[in-house]
Amino acid sequence: MSRVIDIADRISEANGRSMMRLVEDAYPVCRSITGDGLRQTLALVGAQVDLAIHEVPSGTAVFDWTVPDEWNIRDAYIADTDGRRIVDFRQSNLHVVNYSDPVNAQMTFDELAPHLHTLPDHPGWIPYRTSYYARSWGFCLAHEQLEAMRAAGHDRTYDVVIDASLKPGHLSYGEVFLPGRSDDEILLTTHVCHPSMCNDNLSGVTVLAQLATLLRDTDRHHAIRCLFIPGTIGAISWLALNRDKLHKIRHGLVLAGLGDTGPLTYKRTRDGTATIDRAVEAVLAHTPAFDDKAPRVVDFSPYGYDERQFNSPGIALPVGRLSRSEYGSYPEYHTSADNLDFIRPPALVDSLRALARVIATLDDNARWRNTEPCCEPQLGKRGLYDAAGAGADWEQVRLALLWVLNLGDGKNDLLQVAERSGLPFEAIARAASRLADAGLLERTGT
Ligand code: ZN
Repeated sequence: MSRVIDIADRISEANGRSMMRLVEDAYPVCRSITGDGLRQTLALVGAQVDLAIHEVPSGTAVFDWTVPDEWNIRDAYIADTDGRRIVDFRQSNLHVVNYSDPVNAQMTFDELAPHLHTLPDHPGWIPYRTSYYARSWGFCLAHEQLEAMRAAGHDRTYDVVIDASLKPGHLSYGEVFLPGRSDDEILLTTHVCHPSMCNDNLSGVTVLAQLATLLRDTDRHHAIRCLFIPGTIGAISWLALNRDKLHKIRHGLVLAGLGDTGPLTYKRTRDGTATIDRAVEAVLAHTPAFDDKAPRVVDFSPYGYDERQFNSPGIALPVGRLSRSEYGSYPEYHTSADNLDFIRPPALVDSLRALARVIATLDDNARWRNTEPCCEPQLGKRGLYDAAGAGADWEQVRLALLWVLNLGDGKNDLLQVAERSGLPFEAIARAASRLADAGLLERTGT
């Protein structure tokens, strides 16, 4: 079986094409935090990787929240008196405020106007709006469409229909569990509740689905738990209903916004000193710039995606977040312009590769003890000083061997060796493995 680092090294453009196919298949589906669009999307992920689907009944109390009624929508439109659809859900599911109450009425433009949402700064784009926890209804449309309706007259009458239902049902989520050699777990989550938008959030869905597929047949210390959950309420529900599992989670990442051409961005855990923080920072320090943009690290704040639930004081799991451009920092965010052209396969590949290297780093990180700690052991007689086998990287290999031996006191982990030496973690891990094979290192802990 392959090790995770071998999988990371083999990630290529083919993975980019495969990730885009899932995005294209899932893009037209009208997702929400509950309902059949969410189930349909989970089924698309489930066609790729073994996914357990869980259904949490409406009304279930989850900490301070309650799982809401299930929302399903069949059709929606605003039509003029000739029956011509001016705003049509079939053209874009963003046209309806997500979780809208059903409506079937005739109203004038002036009566309808308070329910219409546009983006005057981007008059051709449709905004994305939700109304999960306050009962209301509305339509989102291009500002130029609104202006045309206004020009047609304030007393003009329209047929307004939202054929939706909101009744007791379930909140669905998907879970992939890949056992490891130990009980220690790495938790990876992505939200799966946004309708037709690609960076937020199909990029996270497809990167996580692809990673789960690649990791399936790897030999790992850690078990990997992947959650495809509706944002906020899905994370809260999972945490509330799985408290017995939380003690096994050693490291975690929320994945969101991984397909745009912005720089890879890591958001630290609340404390900022967890192993996941150090592992991601070690990987990003040796990740080449993408599109001339070097990776960035930002501090925790109690906002953003589901990292705010995992890092809440009563949960306090070491969960960071991997993204590219930050939510809300690009004009296409939460609009119809976050479409299939907005995300780029090479960006998805760059994100996937970094993520796989983070998992490899977490998995290979360990504490080691030098078995010949009095002066340097003689590397030459053990074949470890052989320049011929090391090629152009000989200097790095030699340095890595010396750093691992010197800091191999049983207390430093390999991430500390990487940090102090400035060498890539992979070089340090490889050196540790060669030294262990030569009997010069003993593993003392993870
Ligand atoms: Zn969002």
